[in-house]
Amino acid sequence: MISDLFLNKLVDEIYKFVYKTNLEKYPINLHEPDLSNTKSLTYLKDCIDKNWVSSGGEWVKKFENKLCEYTKSKYAIALCNGTNALRLALQTIGVKKGDEVLVTPATFVATANAISHLGAIPHFVDIEPKTLALSASKLDERLEQISHRSNGYVFNKNTQNKISAILPVHVFGMPADFGALEVISKKWSIPIVEDSAEALGSWYKKNENFTHCGLLGEIGILSFNGNKIITTGGGGAILTNNKVFADKARHLSTTAKIPHPWEYFHDQIGWNDRMPNINAAIGFAQLEKIKNILEIKKRIYSRYIQILSDFDFVEIISPPKNSVSNNWLITLRILVEDDNHAISIRDKLLSMAHKKNILLRPIWKSLHNLPMYLNSPRGDLSEAEFQEKRLINLPSSTKLLS
Ligand SMILES: *Cc1c(COP(=O)(O)O)cnc(C)c1O
Repeated sequence: MISDLFLNKLVDEIYKFVYKTNLEKYPINLHEPDLSNTKSLTYLKDCIDKNWVSSGGEWVKKFENKLCEYTKSKYAIALCNGTNALRLALQTIGVKKGDEVLVTPATFVATANAISHLGAIPHFVDIEPKTLALSASKLDERLEQISHRSNGYVFNKNTQNKISAILPVHVFGMPADFGALEVISKKWSIPIVEDSAEALGSWYKKNENFTHCGLLGEIGILSFNGNKIITTGGGGAILTNNKVFADKARHLSTTAKIPHPWEYFHDQIGWNDRMPNINAAIGFAQLEKIKNILEIKKRIYSRYIQILSDFDFVEIISPPKNSVSNNWLITLRILVEDDNHAISIRDKLLSMAHKKNILLRPIWKSLHNLPMYLNSPRGDLSEAEFQEKRLINLPSSTKLLS
């Protein structure tokens, strides 16, 4: 057994780091916005001076262009949040009511909710331990077990539902091992929609080039919620290199209105998913600083590696080779084989840290065990359940080092 004294020492080391420069003992959250040293106020004032605060403004266009420039995406569509962006991305590639989407259970609840919001069904497949992302081999294994092909499509032979997308998540900003997932996507002709909500600034090497997360599959999304790497207050975006998808997503996000100087003609039931101008203005201001933000995040990651190097029962999770992580949430893994022992260490670390006002969090509860998803189809999820007991997110805000 690992003694409480030793666990306390670990929490003390984290404490010394997170409170080093801040004598005032305010609670340390996992990830806080950082709008300092940006031109946010100037750009916000511009929106107010020009009396254009809502959707369709010039800062939305500027923000979209800046996103394209940074990620090298051909198209970016700024939206009101990441959840809606994901629902819209799924809808854009053709996911329909009653379809199944193969998805990881080790993610924020919004990933599965976005599927459900379309009336589609999350079908949970296990993760791989290194990146915590959807496992290509488990995906293939599951498809071999349950699928039958008809007219070029894949159906779940137990439910007769069409399987219309694969939805991997780049967990905590760490790129999934996309090469392996792509092989499975091609083998079964099922398109990939990427939940890159946490992965602005993360890249994966594809065909010799580093490709931004969200642009590895057919279509991907970002979130700019308050806790993400940059924030627009609330917001999200679709990234894609496919013009047909970009046009369709923009149309659906804009109440499916046919552009016209005065006429209200809508050709289907659309959504109002657009990002307001004031949100885009502060997003633009942070995007101007993204390189600086990522540099600080890298240093925080290195510091944690150093801080925890004396504790051989834990490790810091690191991205797969051929990838660059934005280090959004730095994550500690407890390297203890026995489940109960691991849970006991996890809970003690959480409680010791909270007593010191450091608000550590365990990874999200695996989605397949939440009440609304108890009846969702699923393969073997033993790795997700194993990892769930062993992961703790560490405070990762840029203000820790800036
Ligand atoms: C934050 C997040 C979302 C949802 O984004 P919102 O902007 O909060 O709606 C979706 N998926 C993942 C993995 C996220 O972390």
